[in-house]
Amino acid sequence: MEDTIFSKIIRREIPADIVHEDDDVLGFRDINAQAPTHVLFIPKRPIATLNDLQESDAVLIGKLVLAATRYARAEGLADDGYRCVINCNGHGGQTVFHLHLHLLGGRQMHWPPG
Ligand code: 5GP
Repeated sequence: MEDTIFSKIIRREIPADIVHEDDDVLGFRDINAQAPTHVLFIPKRPIATLNDLQESDAVLIGKLVLAATRYARAEGLADDGYRCVINCNGHGGQTVFHLHLHLLGGRQMHWPPG
């Protein structure tokens, strides 16, 4: 997989506002926040898109989702609610090809998305 800006954030080569880190997952604020809380959770091991997930990644993806939902709870977002989004490839609107989960909260979300 090609290096992305997110690999540089993992290696601390470029700055980011990191809010979560464990052995497998990094969470940092989106540089172009679309909600009062907009945090990206990424696996430290680079996986380009949802299409590239293997059966053996099931635990890692579980950890990614749990990191986001625990953070949402810790930030007081759980009761009002929040949105988790993973974009895939062009039609999904993916622009950075290192799998990431967007956690968006702190305002009313709308459906359907644009
Ligand atoms: P995607 O469109 O691929 O689902 O989301 C990529 C996200 O990464 C976008 O919301 C964009 O604002 C964010 N992003 C792109 N470059 C950077 C960066 O250098 N730092 C941070 N913190 N976020 C970035």
